[in-house]
Amino acid sequence: MSHDHHHHHHHEEECCELGHHHEEEGHGTLVKIILAAVLLAAAWLVEHFCDLATWQLLLIYLVPYLIVGWDTLKEAAEGLVHGEAFNEHFLMSVATLGALCIGFLPGAETQFPEAVFVMLFFQVGELFEGYAEGKSRESISHLMNIRPETATVLRDGAEVSVSPEEIAVGETLVIRPGERIPLDGIVLEGASGIDTKALTGESAPRDVAEGDEVISGCVNLSGVLRIRATKAYGESTVSRIIELVEHAGERKSRSETFISRFARIYTPVVVFAALALAVIPPLVSGHFGETFPTWLYRALMFLVVSCPCALVISVPLTFFGGIGGASRRGILVKGANYLDALASVKTMVFDKTGTLTRGQFAVEAVHPETCDERQLLHLAAHVEHFSTHPIGAALRDAFPDEATDGCEVSEVTEIAGQGITALVEGMKVAVGNTRLMDGVGAAWHDCHCPGTIIHVAIDGLYAGHIVINDKVKDDSAGALADLRGLGVRRLVMLTGDRKAIAAKVAGELGINEYRPELLPDGKVAAVEEMLGGERPLAFVGDGINDAPVLSRADIGIAMGGLGSDAAIEAADVVLMDDKPSKIGLAVRLARRTVRIARENVWFAIGVKVAVLVLAALGVATLWMAVFADVGVTVIAVLNAMRALR
Ligand code: ADP
Ligand code: MG
Repeated sequence: MSHDHHHHHHHEEECCELGHHHEEEGHGTLVKIILAAVLLAAAWLVEHFCDLATWQLLLIYLVPYLIVGWDTLKEAAEGLVHGEAFNEHFLMSVATLGALCIGFLPGAETQFPEAVFVMLFFQVGELFEGYAEGKSRESISHLMNIRPETATVLRDGAEVSVSPEEIAVGETLVIRPGERIPLDGIVLEGASGIDTKALTGESAPRDVAEGDEVISGCVNLSGVLRIRATKAYGESTVSRIIELVEHAGERKSRSETFISRFARIYTPVVVFAALALAVIPPLVSGHFGETFPTWLYRALMFLVVSCPCALVISVPLTFFGGIGGASRRGILVKGANYLDALASVKTMVFDKTGTLTRGQFAVEAVHPETCDERQLLHLAAHVEHFSTHPIGAALRDAFPDEATDGCEVSEVTEIAGQGITALVEGMKVAVGNTRLMDGVGAAWHDCHCPGTIIHVAIDGLYAGHIVINDKVKDDSAGALADLRGLGVRRLVMLTGDRKAIAAKVAGELGINEYRPELLPDGKVAAVEEMLGGERPLAFVGDGINDAPVLSRADIGIAMGGLGSDAAIEAADVVLMDDKPSKIGLAVRLARRTVRIARENVWFAIGVKVAVLVLAALGVATLWMAVFADVGVTVIAVLNAMRALR
C-alpha cells in the first residue's frame, strides 16, 4: 500500500529532525481543517437561506472541499501515476468526488456538505494519526535522549567541546556532574555515582571509581570524572541501542504481515464491490434511471467505510508502542516478531553461570599438591590473564600481584567450556575442569568441598585445585516461579559446570530439569533437541560463550546487555541489567501488546462489516460512514497508545 510508503518517508526525515517536521505539518493541517470547517458552516447557511442553483452551490462548497482535500486528491493522482491505485487517498477522492457529482443526476438529492465533511474528517483522522505517531516516536526518543549532544575532551591540556562523533578511542573525556556520558570508557580519575535509568529502567545509582568501566548514555551524578574513551561513538552502547530500537520496526509481527496482506486484497475487493453495488441492482431492477442515484450513494458509503486506515495504522503503532514501552524498562526488543513469540513462549532454557547465578566467583579454598598455595594461585591468575570468563576474573582477583609481577605468559588457548592452557615462565599450565585435565593427561582427583572446582596441571602433571563459589541471584527463584505462573511449561537449566553444582543450584531454584557438564556445542545440541518439543523456545544467556545458542533459539534473550557487545549482537531481546525477573516482565509486556493489537483488529473489522451491511441495506448515511471510519481509527490509535504505558 502506498500508505506504508508514504509514512516511511516521514520516518526517514524524522530520524534526523526528531519530530519537528511532523509538528509543522500538523499545524498546517489543523489550520486547514478549522478554515474548511468555518467555510463549510458558512456554505451550509448560504444554502439554507439563499435560493441558489445546483452549480452555484457546488462552487460554494468546492472552496472548503479543496482547502481540506487538495493534498488527498494530489496523493490519489500520484498513486494512480505510480500504479498504486488502491490506497486510502484514492478511496476518499473517489467517494467525495462521487458525492459532489451525485447531485447533478436527475432525481437525486445533492450531497455537497457530506462530501466536504468526509474529506474534513479524513484529515482529522490523518492529523490524529500523525500526532499519535509523533507521540510514540517521542517516547522512543525519550530513549534518544540518551544521545549526547556534545562531549568535553582534553586536547593539549585544554578542555574542548566537540560532538561525540569526533572523539577518537584513547582520548580523555571530562564529565561533570549532571552530564551524560557520551562514549563508553574507563574511569581514569574521580569517583561518582552514575544513573543508568535511561538504559535499565532502574533508578538506583551505580558507584564507579578509578579503573571501572562506564557506559555511554548514563548520567554522571556527583563527582567530576575523567574517562578514557574505549570505543568510538558509533560502537558505543548509546548509538548501538538507538540504532537497534530505530530498526526494530522493520521486523514485522505476524499481525502486521497479516494486515498488509489483508489490505492488499481487501481494498480492491471493496472497490469492485462498490462498483457492482452501484451498477448491478439498478440494472436488475429494470429502472436504471430512477434507482441508480440511490445505489450510487450506497456505493460511495462503501468506499468511505472500506478505508483500512484503522488497521494499517494502529497495529504497527501498537507494536511500536510495545517496543518503546519495553525499552523504557530496560528491555530491548529487536523486532515486533519477537514480541509475538515472547507472548506465547512455552519452553525456556537458561544458562547457569552469569544468568541464574551472579557470575561473580570467589575463591573459597586452595588445595595444592605439588607446590604451595601462592604458586598455584599465581599460575592460575596468569593463565587467566586475557580471559573474559567470570571464573577468570575470580582467579585474577585472588592473586592481586598478577598484573604487575612481570611474569611472561604466552600461547594462551581458551577452550570454551573446559578452561585455558598457557605457557607461564616456560611451564605449560592448564587451568580448567576435569575434562581439560583428561585432555592434558593429568591425574586429577575430586574434592569434597561443595563448589566449582578448578583444577591446575603443570606440564601435564596434576598440581592441585582451587575451589570457587558462585551465588544464585537474589531474584532468580522468584523469576522462575513467576514464569511458571505465566504458563511457561518447561524450564531447563544448561551448564558446563559439574553435576553436583548443577543439582544444588537447580534445587535452590526449583528447576527440575537440568543438564550438566555441557560443552558449548553440547548446549546447542540440547537446544536443538528441545526445539522439537513445545515452542516457541527462548534461551536466556549472558552472551559469554553462549552466542551460538542465543541465535539458535526462537528467541535469544541476553542478560546484562550493559556493556556486553556479544549480547547486544547475538540476542533478539536484551535485558539491560542482569535481573532474571525482567524476563517475566518482558513476557507480560509482549502479551499486553499482542492483546491490544488483536483488540484493534477485531474492533475495526467488526465495525466496518456492520456499517458495510447497513450501507448495502440503505440504512446508513455518509455521515455515519465517515464517523465509523474516523471514529474507529481514533479509538484504535488511542488503544494502541496504551501499549507504550
Ligand atoms: P556455564 O555453562 O555454567 O556458563 P561454561 O560453559 O562457561 O559454564 O564453563 C563450563 C566449565 O568450564 C566451568 O565450570 C569451568 O570448570 C570450565 N571453564 C570455562 N572457562 C574457564 C576458564 N576461563 N578458566 C577455568 N575454567 C573454565
Ligand atoms: Mg556461561
